[in-house]
Formats: sequence, structure tokens, C-alpha cells
Amino acid sequence: MRSVEEALKTVLDSTKVLGTERIAIQDAHGRVLAEDVSSGLFHPPWDNSAMDGFAVKWDDIKNASKENGVRLRIVGDVRAGIMPDKPVNKGEAIRIMTGAPVPDGSDTVVRVEDTKGEGDSVNIFYAGEKGENVRHKGENIKKGDIVLTKGSVLNAAHIGVMAMVGKPVVTAYRRPKVMVLATGDELADLDEEITENKIPNSNGYTVAAQVIEAGGIPHLLGIARDNKESLREKIGEGLHGDMLLVSGGVSVGMYDFVKDILKEYGIDMKFWTVGLRPGHPIAFGLVGDKPIFGLPGNPVSTMVTFEVFARPAILKMSGHTSLSRPLVDAVCEEEFRTRPGRTNYVRAVTRYKEGKYFVKSTGDQGSGILISMSRANSFMVLPPDKEKVLQGEVVKVQLFVGDIDYL
Ligand code: AMP
Ligand code: MG
Repeated sequence: MRSVEEALKTVLDSTKVLGTERIAIQDAHGRVLAEDVSSGLFHPPWDNSAMDGFAVKWDDIKNASKENGVRLRIVGDVRAGIMPDKPVNKGEAIRIMTGAPVPDGSDTVVRVEDTKGEGDSVNIFYAGEKGENVRHKGENIKKGDIVLTKGSVLNAAHIGVMAMVGKPVVTAYRRPKVMVLATGDELADLDEEITENKIPNSNGYTVAAQVIEAGGIPHLLGIARDNKESLREKIGEGLHGDMLLVSGGVSVGMYDFVKDILKEYGIDMKFWTVGLRPGHPIAFGLVGDKPIFGLPGNPVSTMVTFEVFARPAILKMSGHTSLSRPLVDAVCEEEFRTRPGRTNYVRAVTRYKEGKYFVKSTGDQGSGILISMSRANSFMVLPPDKEKVLQGEVVKVQLFVGDIDYL
């Protein structure tokens, strides 16, 4: 049977990075940078003060001490946003605020705490070192410096840096538009009545939310019924995006026509089963360059197959190169049996205590039990030969999010 690793390699080898677009930096959080960003400015733009205090000539104050103050004449003041209108001459000081440009003639700023003002003069009680409390022009960033490199996943600091270097618009990789289709005669959508022969379409909504989490743009196509005409129409619509995710109708039931219709649309089918539990029937192929996934209909199987295969594909299309959730070693808190033969993704809660992760399952692992998925913050990932996990055994855990309970 095709392993999860082999299948994922096939998916990623077949998935291409999308093109780029120009976006405002305030819309760029989480996006992948498609260019190197160089600075259009010096930062700081001029020598400026790191403290509220007095701009002086260090030569004047180099002998100052707590006991022997040096008296200087205050000839003006300068604050942030104002350029100084006069220099500091010998025997003079200019009162200066944090961030204000250091006047010509001055090389050092003495903190206000190390001085005592007396009318239009000031007594300096500390010499320190020449240049103290002066931040020099361009000491952080020089004009033309590369400040961010292509491929960076833009976080808050990156966005601040772009604002700082005068880069309001940036080139990023496009987010894929992901078409989401549910299939089944038994499904009723949110605006429909749930009659006795119907169940709510939940997969459409879970998958759309997973797409958002992966950074894609979901487009809900609603429900296709289990007949070829309906599937033909909806799948045809679904080929207008960058990726199509169909849930249900890919196993071997009499009304599972999804694969037949995808073949009509010329799909190059790469695989339709994987050694994964839950999520054994999962179809993957390409129509042109477009990745198409037929995800199994059971709500947890849908989510797991999305996590394992569609999420990394969406990330790759969006320009990401780190495609995996964090994988950690965790101590299993309970004895646990699994059915061997496939890689098992066990819904689990992981917590952190005194340098170690601890994990336990969220209960019944039936592939239709979405509620046990909703209580999970992680999967235990158990290899195909694993039949039993002992209490205290160390297992691999894939974390869904960065936030976790510290005990
Ligand atoms: P299928 O893969 O179409 O054989 O569906 C497997 C199971 O998942 C069946 O019990 C379906 O009723 C259920 N199912 C399929 N699609 C959905 C959906 N969109 N929302 C909730 N359950 C679904
Ligand atoms: Mg079905």
C-alpha cells in the first residue's frame, strides 16, 4: 500500500508555486515574500539622542564627576520632529529629547538624571564616554541594505521593518483560490431543512475553515448530488479555481462517481488510496496544473486527509517552504491500542509540563466522530506497525497550533 510519505511526495512534486501579486503591507501578514526588500532610507535618518538630556561636547565634560560638576550654558532646546537651528559651541549645552537630532558641534548626550539645571545653565555630574547616548545615522539600516529576503513568511516585525524602510507595497506569492465541494444525496446545506433522510453538510464548512487556516481563499460550491449530471456541473465549476477539494463519493460505493467525472475532465490521477487511518480512500490528481483532491466523506477522514495532503499543497502553492506542522516527542499518558497496517492519526490533547510534552487521545476514534476532533489540539502519529502504545511510551505528536497549555 502507498505510504503517507510516498503519497505526500507525489502531491508536493505535482504542486506548483503560484504567481505573485503586489499588495499593501497592511494586508501582507502571513504572506510569503516574493522579492528581496532593500531599504530606501537610513535608519536612524540622522544622529539622534537615545535619552532625554543635554547635547554637549565631550571635551567640555570629560572631567565631570559626582563631586565636581561642570557648568555649561544652555543655549536652546531640540525635540523629536524638529531640526536644531544652532550648533553646540564650547562651554554650551542644548536641552535634547529622546529621538531628536543631535545638533552640530555636539558628540555626546548626558542623561537628565546626571545633571542639575540652574536657570540658564546646567551642572553636569557624569562624563561617561565620548558618544554616549547618541544613536548614529544609519546604524540600524543603511540605504540600499537588504532587510528582508525572498521567501520570508511575513510576521509583525517584518511588516514593521517594511514600513520603517519606506516600502508600503510589496510583491508576495498569490494565495490559492480553493474550490470546496460536498457531495451526497443525504446532505442538507445550512439553509435547508433537515428532514428525516438528511444530515447536515458539515464537511463543506470544516474544509473551508481549514483552507483559511492554511492561508488559502475558500470558495464554497455547495452540494453536488450523487448522480453524474450534478457532479459534472459542480466539478466543472470547481475547475475555475487554483485547487479543487471534493468531499465524499470517492470510495467504492455504487454511487461514488467522483472519480468517473474527474476522468471525464481529463484528470491525470496520481493515486486513490493511501495507507492512512482515518482516510484510506483519498484521490489525488491534476487537471492541467490544478491539484484536485477527492477527500473521503467521513468528517474526520476529510479533516485528516486535508491536514496531511491538501494543507502542505496549499502552503507550497502560496510560496511557503516550511510545510509541516511542529512535530514533537510526547509521553503517552495512557495505554492505547490501534489497528496496525496504516499510519494512524490519533486525535489527541497535548500539554507541556516541566520540559516534556504529555499526550492522551480524545476518546473514540471512529472516523465520523467530529466531536473528538473538536477536542483535539494535536495528532499522535503512529507508524503502520504500531499495535499498542504503552503508558509512559514516547510517541510522535503533530501539534495543530503554537499555543499550548503549560501545566
Ligand atoms: P462517502 O465518502 O460519500 O461514502 O461518505 C462517507 C460518510 O461521510 C457518509 O456517512 C456520509 O453521509 C458522510 N458525509 C459525506 N459528505 C459529508 C458532508 N459534506 N458532511 C457531513 N458528512 C458527510
Ligand atoms: Mg457519499
